[in-house]
Amino acid sequence: MRPLTVQKYGGTSVGSVERIAAVAERVAARAAKERMIVVVSAMAGETDRLLKLARALSPEPDPRECDVVAASGEQVTAALLSIALAERGVPAQSFLGHQVRISTDSAHGKARIQSIDGERISRALDEGRVAVVAGFQGVDERGSITTLGRGGSDTSAVAVAAAVKADSCEILTDVDGVYTTDPRVCPQARKLERISHDEMLELASLGSKVLQIRSVEFAKRYGVRVHVRSSFNDSEGTWVVPEESTMEDVLVTGIAHDKDQAKITIKGVPDRPGLAARIFGPIAAANIIVDVILQNTGEDGTTDVTFTVPRGELAAALRIVDEIRRDTGAKEVLSDSTIAKVSIVGLGMRSHAGVAASIFEALAREGINIQMISTSEIKVSVVIDEKYVELAVRALHAALVERGEGAHPS
Ligand code: ADP
Ligand code: ASP
Ligand code: MG
Repeated sequence: MRPLTVQKYGGTSVGSVERIAAVAERVAARAAKERMIVVVSAMAGETDRLLKLARALSPEPDPRECDVVAASGEQVTAALLSIALAERGVPAQSFLGHQVRISTDSAHGKARIQSIDGERISRALDEGRVAVVAGFQGVDERGSITTLGRGGSDTSAVAVAAAVKADSCEILTDVDGVYTTDPRVCPQARKLERISHDEMLELASLGSKVLQIRSVEFAKRYGVRVHVRSSFNDSEGTWVVPEESTMEDVLVTGIAHDKDQAKITIKGVPDRPGLAARIFGPIAAANIIVDVILQNTGEDGTTDVTFTVPRGELAAALRIVDEIRRDTGAKEVLSDSTIAKVSIVGLGMRSHAGVAASIFEALAREGINIQMISTSEIKVSVVIDEKYVELAVRALHAALVERGEGAHPS
């Protein structure tokens, strides 16, 4: 049987009809030897444009209707690519999420894939066609269109690859692979040949948008072979792989940054057992992800609690927190949406304690103040003023990755 490959092309790669034609050439060459499923994003900038249209009509448009609007971007590129393939003598068929049947929960705007029926795609492949799937979208049990969160076409691709048991899943994008940090921020960034699932999960969750985190979760859980590479050349990219024994030898694998952050402080909350549950329970119930948390105890039996949330959810979080302030008699609520998070990730940190100190020194040398710190087994994150984020990434890259070609655990 010919190999079965899933390829996913991101927004820049399908950003114009010329680029769609170039993608069709590339797919056509592969389709001569392989069975091909191609997952596409919307044209670059299109999802932003569509969401803006909805917000121009209402400050808080109905999430269900927003998904109908946003999903249309991928509908267009899937059909255009099928047309371009047919023009080259390659039979192709486009599929929307509900036509494949990519079933999700009903969390509009950030739906999770629950199951995929690969039957219709497989039939198209058996009939000698390339299956072109609209990324980013699914359907819930009521038949409503859902979207998978920004960058969700990566997840569509890996989940489809898992469902049809593809031999590999190529994520074709506008960079040559996964780098030690965002190459647009730090020209010294270096392409990685391989990265472990766990490191990639951390980097993705900490702001490296080269892969959406859920795509890495699927890859890890179902053993999908993921290859991140350029859509503009044929060079080998980065393989996302299970952990290998030598990987712990490298202290710092990558640096991520995330500007999509905001900070909330509740000042002067009476310090009693159950306080954290009272604050974070309702926020979790509203599906808002709280990240770094800091608590300072004051002298008068009260405490200040500070935490970060995604910037887009600041308004919703503040509404909840204001209620908590009234209920608990806390003094005041402050918020700041000019913060950013910078994170250092590496399996080698498991067995080495000095990394945090090196991070603090590198930032201190640049005069960058650290507002919050959080650590886990293989990462350290710091929250800083947004205006220093690029400087911080470059300084940390120089101190921990560049010098660190030798920075192995000692
Ligand atoms: P696509 O539209 O193909 O899905 P994205 O814009 O979502 O592309 O992701 C690719 C971008 O991710 C790159 O252009 C790069 O700026 C950014 N990026 C962030 N961190 C990294 C990293 N560690 N390695 C490579 N690219 C990164
Ligand atoms: N078009 C969607 C977005 O811009 C999904 C994706 O590109 O992966 O987020
Ligand atoms: Mg993307």
